[in-house]
Amino acid sequence: MTNDGFLAGPSPRRLTRQVRIGCVRVGGGAPVVVQSMTNTDTADVLGTAMQVAELARAGSEIVRITVNNEEAARAVPHIRDRLLALNLDVPLVGDFHYNGHTLLAKYPACAEALAKLRINPGNVGAGSKRDPQFAAIVDIACKYDKPVRIGVNWGSLDQSVLARIMDENATLAEPRDAGAVMREALVVSALESAAKAEEYGLPGDSIILSAKVSSVQDLIAVYRDLARRCDYPLHLGLTEAGMGSKGIVASTAALAVLLQEGIGDTIRISLTPEPGGSRTQEVVVAQEILQTMGLRAFTPMVTACPGCGRTTSTYFQELASGIQDYVRAQMPVWREQYDGVENMTLAVMGCIVNGPGESKHANIGISLPGTGETPAAPVFVDGVKTVTLRGDNIAAEFRAIVDDYVATKYVKKAG
Ligand code: SF4
Repeated sequence: MTNDGFLAGPSPRRLTRQVRIGCVRVGGGAPVVVQSMTNTDTADVLGTAMQVAELARAGSEIVRITVNNEEAARAVPHIRDRLLALNLDVPLVGDFHYNGHTLLAKYPACAEALAKLRINPGNVGAGSKRDPQFAAIVDIACKYDKPVRIGVNWGSLDQSVLARIMDENATLAEPRDAGAVMREALVVSALESAAKAEEYGLPGDSIILSAKVSSVQDLIAVYRDLARRCDYPLHLGLTEAGMGSKGIVASTAALAVLLQEGIGDTIRISLTPEPGGSRTQEVVVAQEILQTMGLRAFTPMVTACPGCGRTTSTYFQELASGIQDYVRAQMPVWREQYDGVENMTLAVMGCIVNGPGESKHANIGISLPGTGETPAAPVFVDGVKTVTLRGDNIAAEFRAIVDDYVATKYVKKAG
């Protein structure tokens, strides 16, 4: 809070233990990590390796793959080797349900190739099988020195925990409503499973927790509670967020509240891709949430006005979208060559009303001519008007100005 009473930024990050997942650190003050998950058949080594590579190149710092059967377990080390051959050392997380204890015991090379195991306590085994099967997975995690995410999900909540919490609730003088009981059961399931994993020998700094639900308000309530009751790093995600703008808005609404409160050490956006759409959209959205909140910087951001009756052509929309695509496409190269380029800001504005003002606030801004204005586009670099572009080649000339700015303003990396 500033001395004029305004919130100046997010709350300090919640203090947690730090967990190492391959080359990536989660929690304990490390930057919030972006994760994603493949939707290929893991048994398809080439297809899965290619999608992991695509996600990693888009910026996913950890990629989860399902390990649902023997073919998938056999494929995991080969997927990892193909990625290493591409010079991609992205940590792979194995997602296990029902048969994880069997697969990991039978395919030790799978356990070895993974950087983390994800267990859902609701899907480890029922009744008397649950604890020994959970212990078997924890044993393997300890043997191969792998961290574990205990990932509870309300769609597969451990029914024995839920029944116990419901029974306890019924004895209260003022019983809680069904939603509160479900939220408590999610949190208890995660915390009790973590305690059990530690009891079986897994170090506390090898545990990450998640408790995913598909309702925004429930997710916020559950994670606030979880954050208060433990110091494990937390993986955030709204499960089954949905498609398109609904999935993006719901995920952003939930995660932004938690991140603003300093809660969350790693995030995944569970978007259903549009038919034919790229899986990398979930990575882009995760990065944009973190960057627009000022928590991390990944790629230069383009500010653009929405357009209105003053812009009757689509030219400025095309320029804004073209320059955003251009800087994103350049980032893999720029990131290797220049320090700090991800912090660059660009503005593409549609007319003289807000154009020059907004353009001056960006590192590079262009104010296009609106309807009836002189056909000229002043360009501002670090707040100073440097040139006015005219004619049919404005987009290419603006890109050249951006290239020149990057090459001269950002520190070149050694080597
Ligand atoms: S900057 Fe101009 S074109 Fe863009 S929204 Fe404002 S008035 Fe409309």
